[in-house]
Formats: sequence, C-alpha cells, structure tokens
Amino acid sequence: MRITIVGTGYVGLVTGAGFAEFGHHVTCVDVDAKRIEMLRQNEMPFHEPGLPELVRRNTMHGRLDFTTSLREAVPGSAAVFIAVGTPSREDGSADLKYVLEAARDIGRALQAAPADGYTVIVTKSTVPVGTADKVRAAVEAETKHAFAVASNPEFLKEGDAVNDFLKPARVIVGADEPRAVDLLRELYRGIMRTTDRIQVMSVRSAELTKYAANAMLATRISFMNELAAICETVGADIESIRKGIGSDPRIGPKFLFAGAGYGGSCFGKDLRALAYLGRELDVPLQVVNAVDRANERQKRLLGERVIKHFGGHLDGKRIGIWGLAFKPETDDIREAPALSLIEQLLAAGATVVGYDPVAGPNVHALLGDRIELATDPYAAAHNVDALVLVTEWHELRQPDLARLATTMRAKVLVDGRNVWPREAAVAAGFTYYGIGRPLVERR
Ligand code: NAD
Repeated sequence: MRITIVGTGYVGLVTGAGFAEFGHHVTCVDVDAKRIEMLRQNEMPFHEPGLPELVRRNTMHGRLDFTTSLREAVPGSAAVFIAVGTPSREDGSADLKYVLEAARDIGRALQAAPADGYTVIVTKSTVPVGTADKVRAAVEAETKHAFAVASNPEFLKEGDAVNDFLKPARVIVGADEPRAVDLLRELYRGIMRTTDRIQVMSVRSAELTKYAANAMLATRISFMNELAAICETVGADIESIRKGIGSDPRIGPKFLFAGAGYGGSCFGKDLRALAYLGRELDVPLQVVNAVDRANERQKRLLGERVIKHFGGHLDGKRIGIWGLAFKPETDDIREAPALSLIEQLLAAGATVVGYDPVAGPNVHALLGDRIELATDPYAAAHNVDALVLVTEWHELRQPDLARLATTMRAKVLVDGRNVWPREAAVAAGFTYYGIGRPLVERR
C-alpha cells in the first residue's frame, strides 16, 4: 500500500520507517527542508536506537522516501498520517495549528488525486477529543475528494521507539467508517501474525485513550514521588515500598520509580491539555491537576537538596550533572528535569558542568555558554563540589567511586534516580543523597 506520513519527528519518522518495514511504500513529508535533505542523505535528525538502520534499509529497498511536497506524496496514497507537533499553549490547551495546517495542505493536495479515489486521513499526533471533526472540516474546505478521518494515537517510547512500533502491545484505531477500519487493519497486518492487537473504537474514545494512558503513567510517578517525601520524613525506603507494591499483580512493577520528576515532550503537555479539557467541559479532573503540580515540585527537589547542603547559596561552587536528556537512550531535552536543575543551580550562583552521552549538542543549542559541557563523565566531575545524577544512562549507573574521590573537590553525591551504590558511596567517604531513602533503613 502507498502511504504518506506528515511530520518526520520522533513519531513520524519511526512510523514511516516502521510501515516501510512492513512492506508498504511510504513517503515522509516535512516542512523543514533541512531535515528532509538530511534524511535523503541518510542522516538522522535525532538520536533513536535502531532507527538509522531501519531508515537506511527501507530507503535502499525503495520503500521509503522523503520530500517537502505534499502534492507529490498525497495523490497516490491510500492513507495520510498526521504526525506533527501539538505543543502546549499558555493556557495549557494543545495548540492544533500544525495539525490543522497539515490538514488543509492535505486537502489541497487531494485535489490532484483520482476523482474516484478514497483516502483515509489518520491523526497520529496526540490531539484533544473532537480534533478529528476539526481535521475533517479543514480538509473538506479544500477538496471534493472522498475521504475519512481516523485516529490512531501513538504509544511509542523514545529510546525504544522502533521496538514499540514494530511490536506494539496494542494498536488503537478510532474510526467510524468500516472502510477506514479495514484499511488500517491492512496497514498493520505485519504485526498481527500471532494475535490481533488492533482495538477498534470510536474516534473520540481513541483520542481520549492516548491522554488517559499518559495521565495514568504520570500519576504513578507523581504518586511515588510524593510517597518518597513521606519516606524521608519517617525513615522508610521508597525502594522497598516500590518492590513491595510492584510485586502485587494488580499494580505491576512499571512506572513506580521515584526520581527527579518526569520530563519529555508528552507527559506534561498532555496532562495540561487534559486538565484544560476538564476545565472547558466543567468536569473536575482533580487527580490530573495534582499530578502535574506534584511533578513541578519534584523537578525542583534535586536543586533544593544541593543548595541546602551548601547552606542556602552556591556562590563559588561548581556542580557536575550526569545525564541531561529527559530519559536515557534519547537526545530529547524537552521539559527535561536537568534543565530545571541547571536553572536553579545557576540562579543560586553555581557554575555548572554537564555530561550526557548524546544530548550535549541540544543543551548547547538551548543554553549556549551558560553551562559547560564535558565529553566524558569524569571530566564533568572534575573539581566539582557535588555531582548530581539526573538521567540514569547505563554508563552512568556504576560510578568509579575511587576515581570520583580523587577528582571531585568535595565528596557530595546526589543520586536523582536511586541507582548509585549508596553503602559503597558512604563507605568511600561521600555524603550521599538519594530520593526517598534514608542512609540506614530503620527496620
Ligand atoms: P516533533 O516536534 O519531533 O516533530 C514534528 C515534525 O513535524 C517536525 O519535524 C516539524 O517540522 C513537522 N511539521 C510541522 N508542521 C508540519 C506540516 N504542516 N507539514 C509537514 N511537517 C510539519 O514531534 P514528535 O515528538 O514526533 O510528536 C508528534 C506528535 O506525536 C505530538 O502530538 C506528540 O504529542 C505525539 N507523540 C509523541 C511521542 C514522543 O515520544 N515524542 C509519543 C507519542 C505521541
């Protein structure tokens, strides 16, 4: 089948390459001409494990190509996916300007399609309930061509996106026309050899399922972060509690890690959009609002811990940060907890030096010379008064304590992910701070 993907970001590019891997002919379109040129040269615009190989292989086999022209791509396509950004507006609502602009452009491009054709326009972007109607109106205003609008929200995780796309736990299809459902089933046939993982529902339910998923995951994290604060007060260990509740099959072990707060381009944005929807509909969403508030508080915790340790200000202090991306295995720094920490430390008078295996260039593009960037974790620990772990990349989980002891100016470790060996750190003479963990657990 021939399809078009609009937007070549984390979602669009993975989706395009993934569908090509299933054997479809995919054209990826982006308004960013530089990005399209890079992709044509087989250069990736961001870091995502496994993606370069997937893109290269499918480009080589002639199943995947890139263009800036929707008019070139859309007319022969059975489906056109919208995978552009839906950022937060000031009031928390999702800004649909990119989605609706793409919809209008698709409508215009459909003018050139065969008159007897039928095209399914699919929103893959995370969009508020009711967006499909707006997309339909935007397309309708531009074309007489027959089309349907469907919702197929994406659940991939950055850092493991290729696997998630090729082996999804489920595929949500929101469509009201049977013909659109059949077409989406056909597109996803490549993943249905063992089980039917497609769940068909109404468009509105599909749109809301995506927000519900992100809100649920974020809720688990904020809940654990709040419990971690209790742990610190009463001398309990959040790691014991995590294992204690995570082994209950009704709860399960995932997304129960207390830490530096969640970041990324989705959780915060989607929670704010859901909260906005609640306000707009006059349906109180108290849990959702509290989750986001708790996370904003949590993102400040590591900074507060460092500042308090040094008596309220950091003049003359040098603080090292390990891990800058919002999570491991990505170079994405959107809403990353490390960025909040950096701002807090700078405001308190510190100089900051950071290390990340891949996100350094993005941090430099955002902050310029306001922070130093090291190309090696131990260079980021050189002469620092404290070292803070924010993003638990594998290579940062087991620090060489003896080496840190000789290179750091003061021996203070702040483990924002509870992964460093705290007993060994204390034995080596470090002051160790975790999240929700006393140094010695009271039994
Ligand atoms: P992104 O910002 O990485 O990429 C968006 C791309 O769309 C950019 O390359 C931009 O140039 C392009 N674009 C914008 N307007 C366009 C237009 N009119 N025509 C063609 N291209 C256009 O975004 P992303 O992280 O891939 O997210 C896309 C959507 O998917 C969002 O709604 C997001 O919430 C959702 N989502 C993201 C993730 C994730 O992990 N990043 C996961 C699931 C869902």
